[in-house]
Amino acid sequence: MNDARRQPRRIAVIGGGISGLAAAHRLVERDPSCRLTLLEARSRLGGVLATVHQQGYQVEQSADNFITTVPWGLELCRRLGLGDQLIQTNPTHRRTYVVRRGRLHRLPDGFLMMAPTRLWPLAVTPILSPWGKLRAACEYFIPPRKDPADESMAGFVRRRLGREAFDRLVEPLVGAVYAADMEKLSVDATLSRFREMEQTHGSLIRAMRRQRKARPKAGTESGARYSMFVTLRDGLSSLIDAIAERLPQDAVLLETSVQRIERAGDGWRVVVQAVPKDVPEPGAAEQTLDFDALILATPSTTAARLLEPIDAELAADLRRITHSGTAIVSLGYDRRQIGHPLDGMGAVVPAIENSPILACSFSSQKYAHRAPQGKVLLRVFAGGARRPELAKMDEQQLLPLVAAECDRLLHIRGKPEYCNTARWPGTMPQYHVGHNDLVSRIEGRVSRIAALGLAGNAYHGVGIPDCIHGGQQAAEQVLAEKGA
Ligand SMILES: Cc1cc2nc3c(=O)[nH]c(=O)nc-3n(C[C@H](O)[C@H](O)[C@H](O)COP(=O)(O)OP(=O)(O)OC[C@H]3O[C@@H](n4cnc5c(N)ncnc54)[C@H](O)[C@@H]3O)c2cc1C
Repeated sequence: MNDARRQPRRIAVIGGGISGLAAAHRLVERDPSCRLTLLEARSRLGGVLATVHQQGYQVEQSADNFITTVPWGLELCRRLGLGDQLIQTNPTHRRTYVVRRGRLHRLPDGFLMMAPTRLWPLAVTPILSPWGKLRAACEYFIPPRKDPADESMAGFVRRRLGREAFDRLVEPLVGAVYAADMEKLSVDATLSRFREMEQTHGSLIRAMRRQRKARPKAGTESGARYSMFVTLRDGLSSLIDAIAERLPQDAVLLETSVQRIERAGDGWRVVVQAVPKDVPEPGAAEQTLDFDALILATPSTTAARLLEPIDAELAADLRRITHSGTAIVSLGYDRRQIGHPLDGMGAVVPAIENSPILACSFSSQKYAHRAPQGKVLLRVFAGGARRPELAKMDEQQLLPLVAAECDRLLHIRGKPEYCNTARWPGTMPQYHVGHNDLVSRIEGRVSRIAALGLAGNAYHGVGIPDCIHGGQQAAEQVLAEKGA
């Protein structure tokens, strides 16, 4: 080993969201001698993840939980010593409502995202017409598609379960998660397990029933994702804080926006600019920093801009991943103001309802510690690919729209006593048909650029555990190059 190899490697992670933080944490876990710098444009870490505590309410401004069917979120929490702070959804309220003609109806028990595990609840639901139920039940006999090419969520579900089940059940459930246009959303890149069920078992209903028989007690829950999800008692910001505490002192540079990256020998020169209090200062002085390796954990749009001078085709592919945005309006009420029993986790709203909202989570019913005693916290989602303009509206415009819709759906009297609006325009990558091929191409080109890793929510899943996994893999890849 020569002298250069013995020097600690200077590695920069660009972007301090959960993807970048997971990468940074993995770097110092695996190679405590590396000289880590995490460059974050804003004045705080966490990216879109942010918990606020106001007037006794604990409010998640974006994500409020994460899935446990993949290990990376749970594992990281446990490694950070947060295992005893993980909390489950309230077991007495594990049901979801769906809006139909302005009224809330219970999602048929056992209906998981896009297929029923039980037929009787589907047979008696008022959400579907008799014809719609018959058409959905015919799914059992519809042969699997032979063409292996990716297809849209709308195409897949209409083909298998019919238009009604798509419009009234699946579109609102999947739409609430991905904030996407279902005519464009890729099945392979989002819910590929349903395609696998079709291919392996010939039918979703058959596959779900077989799985249910294998796990007899698991079929009593319904909903998009609730019983499978957990969060942290004091909010998801505690995950961000716990990672930040594990990073070396002085490793994190906040209010430091990366303007350009350039090759400097085998390593990188990074040009940064200060962004005091999140406000870019026109003409602010630039500074250069040198590193042996970089991990880009920004949104893919920023990665495209930074990589343009290095590989224009790669940048063009990154730009092909478009983004939608959402706004979350959190509303606090006295329990007595709300006529609905709120005996569920929340309600999703189909596009065909022409509502200004995508979904409403009954946050304080779903998780403990969200609202003071006798109060209720609702989190209302607006925008997405359905109504992108709502994600950009200011609070004065958005609040009356959203509050009026909640009044109508949940029989609310009077005004909320607490309100918080968080807007996230351009933060939700859209996994359109062909996304997996596009990402393979992007990763192929990135792998040909030495000492560069890529992570973020635009590639292998938008959920927090997927982002953690992506960050960790980018760190492993950059460290593996060390010995090359
Ligand atoms: C409203 C909403 C609700 C959600 N709900 C859930 C949920 O319930 N469960 C779940 O699992 N997931 C949820 N998600 C998805 C999940 O929260 C995100 O996909 C994930 O947090 C994204 O993390 P990230 O680090 O990839 O990106 P980001 O959080 O966007 O972080 C990127 C960081 O890069 C920084 N940056 C950008 N450009 C530069 C630059 N030039 N220089 C330096 N820094 C830069 C940004 O400031 C930012 O901090 C939700 C997302 C949203 C928006």
